[in-house]
Amino acid sequence: SGTGTGAALRAAAGEPYRDPSLPVATRVADLLSRMTLDEKIGQMTQAERGSVTAADITAYRLGSLLSGGGSAPSPNNAASWADMYDGFQRAALATPLGVPLVYGVDAVHGHNNVVGATIFPHNIGLGATRDPELVRQIGRAVAEEVSGTGVDWNFAPCVCVARDDRWGRTYESFGELPELPSSMTTIVTGLQGPELGGPASVMATAKHYVGDGGTIGGDDQGDTRLTEAELRAIHLPPFKAAVERGVGSVMVSFSSWNGVKTHGDRYLITSVLKGELGFTGIVVSDWNGVDQIDGAQGLSATDVRTAVNAGVDMVMEPQAWKQFITLLRAEVQAGRVATSRVDDAVRRVLTKKFELGLFEKPLTDRSYTSTVGGAAHRALARQAVAKSQVLLKNSGNVLPLAASGGKIFVAGRSADDIGIQSGGWTVSWQGSPGNITPGTTILQGIRDTVGSAATVTYSRDGSGVDGSYRAAIAVVGETPYAEGQGDRTGSMGLDATDLRTLDTLRQAGVPLVVVLVSGRPLDIAAQLPGWDALVASWLPGTEGRGVADVLFGAVKPTGKLPMTWMGDVSQQPINDGDGKTPLFPYGHGLTYRDSPADTAPPSAPGAPAASGVTSSQVTLSWAASSDDVGVTAYDVVRVQGTTETTVATPATPSATVTGLSAGTAYTFAVYARDAAGNRSPRSGTVNVTTSGGNGGSGCRVTYAAGDWGGGGFGATVTVANTGTS
Ligand code: BGC
Repeated sequence: SGTGTGAALRAAAGEPYRDPSLPVATRVADLLSRMTLDEKIGQMTQAERGSVTAADITAYRLGSLLSGGGSAPSPNNAASWADMYDGFQRAALATPLGVPLVYGVDAVHGHNNVVGATIFPHNIGLGATRDPELVRQIGRAVAEEVSGTGVDWNFAPCVCVARDDRWGRTYESFGELPELPSSMTTIVTGLQGPELGGPASVMATAKHYVGDGGTIGGDDQGDTRLTEAELRAIHLPPFKAAVERGVGSVMVSFSSWNGVKTHGDRYLITSVLKGELGFTGIVVSDWNGVDQIDGAQGLSATDVRTAVNAGVDMVMEPQAWKQFITLLRAEVQAGRVATSRVDDAVRRVLTKKFELGLFEKPLTDRSYTSTVGGAAHRALARQAVAKSQVLLKNSGNVLPLAASGGKIFVAGRSADDIGIQSGGWTVSWQGSPGNITPGTTILQGIRDTVGSAATVTYSRDGSGVDGSYRAAIAVVGETPYAEGQGDRTGSMGLDATDLRTLDTLRQAGVPLVVVLVSGRPLDIAAQLPGWDALVASWLPGTEGRGVADVLFGAVKPTGKLPMTWMGDVSQQPINDGDGKTPLFPYGHGLTYRDSPADTAPPSAPGAPAASGVTSSQVTLSWAASSDDVGVTAYDVVRVQGTTETTVATPATPSATVTGLSAGTAYTFAVYARDAAGNRSPRSGTVNVTTSGGNGGSGCRVTYAAGDWGGGGFGATVTVANTGTS
């Protein structure tokens, strides 16, 4: 851009803030000392790109712009985004101090405002992967695509802990227990890189602080009524984790805590976040969120004063940004907002701008522009899709389907629709059905998988199906929505269109595989008995091939539920400690035990590490089930990676395995066998207990529900010495 030489000259001419060799704090102090009140207030202002001109940016010394959901240049492609960004940035550089803008977008599952970008699964699906490293890699990919359009700042991740599935933002949550969103803050590291300012470094935002997922009734922007201890235990931990990872910004929640709007909550913002958690970055308000503080329509002096004094550093006033500037100036001049508070806010904003390297490299690095929607990122997304699939039911091992031979029927409104499978926050704020951006639909993924080896017939409503097909795949679920528009206060079941399609398929009498494309668990208990298999696909994004990878067994399902699956909607919120019986518990997820791609099941996060046995034997016993018709014996196998070695074949449901070595961890699985020697498939619970070891030294058994039932009959137990009896 040629600014390098100019910067060096000006630095030499006595503008130390332009000198990249000086420490950031020195540069910030120097720049701050040169700024007028209006210039400072400009740095605290964030406007929507559609409501400013380049001349506004220069005249008002605006510090930041955003593209709200779906706000894009025309034509909407990566190159014109970069052109738009550079145009705005040049206007900022033309101000006397030349402070660059920081530009924000909601790239919440890929750079989703940009047509042609790679769309990754929404957070709920990423939570199902239980794979923080994969999520870090996704953050990196998103950062590259975002950098390729110039944009510096991402309003992601949402680290909300969604506690009530009626909430329309449930799919933006990695999961309902704080550990899961906390573990997925690796995406912050992915987005920012090891530190701000490195290659393709995009500032991340932990949002929405705090308690957004805990509102009464799952109301978007509602009231979270919890004691402080509960708020800290459930909703604060992911923010702590994000701060520990150096997240550059935190966005305040529209919601209230016990009736107080978070945007005006000085205790939560200044004492807890900035004080206790030691957050040194930018606290940004949500879209017109400051306006809500005084309960009256529009932005008032009270709103502005309360928010800034509470600790908000940058105010997102998409349209009313001029009014914000006028009001804040008056509040400062009247002494109701201290200059020191303004300086603190501006210091935070400038620090991030320097750290991002914006002063040295203000314009788009076009070397990343071609990564937008590129093959490597799509391959990563496909892998994430496959890992996010949760196999909830698999009667008679109908899955995986053979990729060759015979005919397969595919139906359902969501089967061949890139918009539906991507959900909200895709191209537009609410998202929409239809061919909105390039990608592979689930139907296309199925077709690509089987190629010419099998016949795939599709009809949207199921018409044309008959008994000649070897299986029917129904792809049904929710259509796109975002924020409060997705709140569901009544039924959470499938709608009439989907139910009719499912009925039609059911009547054909062929095995029915249901792929549920939804942002959350739905109320499906009444239909489930009629389905042979059920896969929760969540909102997979543009790479539908990843769904087919699991359906046809190229990838063994390993996804685990990030949310408890309600028995029915009356159980919401299901996590209130009232001992409700879910349809599927948190963490549930089956797999294909006998698939060629079989590998050892991953350990659940937080599961105790197998530390080895010190005793030489262990007794396993399990409850025989009324389903065990025709069972003549059980196979007890030791599992080592993909190898299984039979260690006992008892006729009754218990076995003592001897000859164990001290210090070694063992994993056993139990199968049932019939007279013909087949391992008989069944679904149902196998309760495995142990009595461990010589002298009662104590062995702990861990087993995940998802490790049995899927590919037959068996339970996996890991025996580990606990050192206690
Ligand atoms: C949402 C935020 C988002 C912001 C900017 C708001 O409506 O609550 O999550 O970052 O809009 O688009």
